[in-house]
Amino acid sequence: MAPPLDLRHDHSLRHLNTFGIDAKAASYVRVRSTEDLHAVRADPRLSALPRLVLGGGSNVLLLADFSGLVLHMANLGLAVWGEDADHVIVTAQAGENWHGFVQWTLEQGLPGLENLSLIPGSVGASPIQNIGAYGSELAEYFHALKAFDFSSGEVIVLSKHDCAFAYRDSVFKHALRDRAVILEVSFALPKRWQPNLRYAELAAEIAARGLVEPTAKEISEAVTAIRKRKLPDPAVIGNAGSFFKNPVVSAAKRHELLAQHPGLVSYLQTDGSYKLAAGWLIEQCGWKGKSLGAAGVHEKQALVLVNRGGANGKDILRLADAIRADVGEKYGVAIESEPVLV
Ligand SMILES: Cc1cc2nc3c(=O)[nH]c(=O)nc-3n(C[C@H](O)[C@H](O)[C@H](O)COP(=O)(O)OP(=O)(O)OC[C@H]3O[C@@H](n4cnc5c(N)ncnc54)[C@H](O)[C@@H]3O)c2cc1C
Repeated sequence: MAPPLDLRHDHSLRHLNTFGIDAKAASYVRVRSTEDLHAVRADPRLSALPRLVLGGGSNVLLLADFSGLVLHMANLGLAVWGEDADHVIVTAQAGENWHGFVQWTLEQGLPGLENLSLIPGSVGASPIQNIGAYGSELAEYFHALKAFDFSSGEVIVLSKHDCAFAYRDSVFKHALRDRAVILEVSFALPKRWQPNLRYAELAAEIAARGLVEPTAKEISEAVTAIRKRKLPDPAVIGNAGSFFKNPVVSAAKRHELLAQHPGLVSYLQTDGSYKLAAGWLIEQCGWKGKSLGAAGVHEKQALVLVNRGGANGKDILRLADAIRADVGEKYGVAIESEPVLV
């Protein structure tokens, strides 16, 4: 028989979001297995409530107490599942810590995910925004996932095509939003691995370490070192990493901006559009290191908003809106938030 639900009421979410916002959930369940989700769905007092799935809380901004049910993913397990001619397939349960999982693959001698080292949060959330960093993104190594479909009560299997991955985007932000709870994710790791040093800063770090043919573990260490230098540790100062996505504009718009702002930082995309560095736009508007009350812009990284102590979600949002308005006015470019606003 399945153990009783770990159900709590008026549960503090302060340690369940990396902004450190002091909000509460009216109801909270620690999800240890698929059976827990079946039990939630079968209980009319719980199934009628609005739901919020939480992993590590490193990509959410809690604007108020949550009056519904928080499902906190805590199912664990890592396994080498199988292989084909070119790949080894590994699976991880949703509640596993992402960085811990990446380190485990490297310990098994299975390279591929090293550029994504030290991204905070859980494995279960990694497909939601198709996490990416240092020239790599999850979609490149994704194999399939299992999710609990709250509408049918069934476990569904989704392929890479089904997930519709794009830049910080997937089907879970659209058609399957509020419906699918990701239970398990599997990855196809290449048997013939090549280091990915496309990202100039990573290539420079590898060169500075005197590495000519770096191993995946050495790349992971280099990525970890760069991230520790550049990004604030949420354990020290509350934040959710990059608060804004890099906006994508047409070649014509970029041309127009470049004429007025010769220092504009932009990257050509495969479809001929350009991605602009949101951090640069924000910095040019004079926001780097500034604060509005207890909400601030990080001193080293203008893309990162921080909780300087005691900020609530609305304080952070007020700052984000002020930045958005300035960037819109100066450059005519809209910048979208990356974290999910709850
Ligand atoms: C310091 C810092 C650096 C960061 N750097 C990067 C980076 O380089 N690249 C990058 O892409 N991101 C980065 N992020 C953002 C964050 O790490 C990722 O988005 C991560 O995948 C979020 O995982 P989480 O478990 O904390 O998700 P949460 O914040 O708990 O949830 C995020 C969203 O996913 C949903 N969700 C969570 N788990 C599940 C599930 N099992 N099933 C269905 N829905 C679910 C939630 O409902 C919510 O909508 C950074 C964050 C921080 C704090």
